[in-house]
Amino acid sequence: MSAALTGRLAPSPTGAQHLGNARTYLLAWLSIRSRGGRVLVRIEDIDSPRVKPWAVQQALDDLHWLGLDWDEGPDRGGPHAPYVQTERVAQYRAALDELRRAERVYPCTCTRSDVAAAASAPHVGQEGPIYPGLCAARRAADVAQLVDRPFAWRYRMSDKLLTFDDRVAGRQLCQVAEQLGDYVIAKADGSPAYQLAVVVDDHAMGVTEVLRGDDLIPSTFRQLELYAFFGWQPPQFAHVPLVVGPDGRRLAKRHGDTRLSQLREAGVQPERLIGLLAQSCGLRPNAEPARAVDLLDDFDLAKINHEPWVLTEQMWRGVGG
Ligand code: GLU
Ligand code: ZN
Repeated sequence: MSAALTGRLAPSPTGAQHLGNARTYLLAWLSIRSRGGRVLVRIEDIDSPRVKPWAVQQALDDLHWLGLDWDEGPDRGGPHAPYVQTERVAQYRAALDELRRAERVYPCTCTRSDVAAAASAPHVGQEGPIYPGLCAARRAADVAQLVDRPFAWRYRMSDKLLTFDDRVAGRQLCQVAEQLGDYVIAKADGSPAYQLAVVVDDHAMGVTEVLRGDDLIPSTFRQLELYAFFGWQPPQFAHVPLVVGPDGRRLAKRHGDTRLSQLREAGVQPERLIGLLAQSCGLRPNAEPARAVDLLDDFDLAKINHEPWVLTEQMWRGVGG
């Protein structure tokens, strides 16, 4: 795999992309492009019941509208094609087979709801309770005895203390077995959970930096376990603070309609949004309109605000005005 600096934008087409997503994409793009690296786009569409067919093209249109560009992706191909997760399932199955052979996973017959939840990346407030290990005595080969009982593959967490140095959030530590517990990594039919797909892809695509919301820090530890198992070099991680509403909660519909497609269709100039985002990140003293490329010259991840950004309705309405 090429060691060239490579980042990715990884939209989940489970709905429209909103202003919070835009801020993370902008930072992921700036971090790589400001150092002359490659950017790829990957569509994370394995969360089948929640995926909306229209959301794929819309996400690509949103990214273009923001003024971000990429070298590889579903719309332009590239050496790591396909760039759509549902077209890459054979790779995830092969990885799962390796985990089975090594007894790193076991069939878990506990409720189905946590299995369903595993398909998408767990965001803040979605981290369920720690799995109590009811099925942990099973061996991978025990699936043969389950006949028609529904089950999921659960990853057997090591008892290690894992650490990593985050480019934004600093040194992170986690006693993974205790603090996170065994987690669902695939369904019975081999369809992967987010954790497995994202690691297989980031490795296969030569991704060297993963910049995403800091609500995914727990997931990073789950993923580091997989990197260690497969003997792969993990990327560098940069977890950035989220956008929250005035109530301090993660930006959502209740805070108003901040869909990018909505702003785009309303004729909003993307430079106004980029200007606001640049200010919110601490990259500019004010919200003067700017293009993403204008922010490249003096970009430095060290300048990024470490607090969640509180977005008020007045601010995003101001972008449209
Ligand atoms: N597709 C994921 C999401 O939108 C991104 C997860 C990641 O960056 O690893 O939540
Ligand atoms: Zn179980």
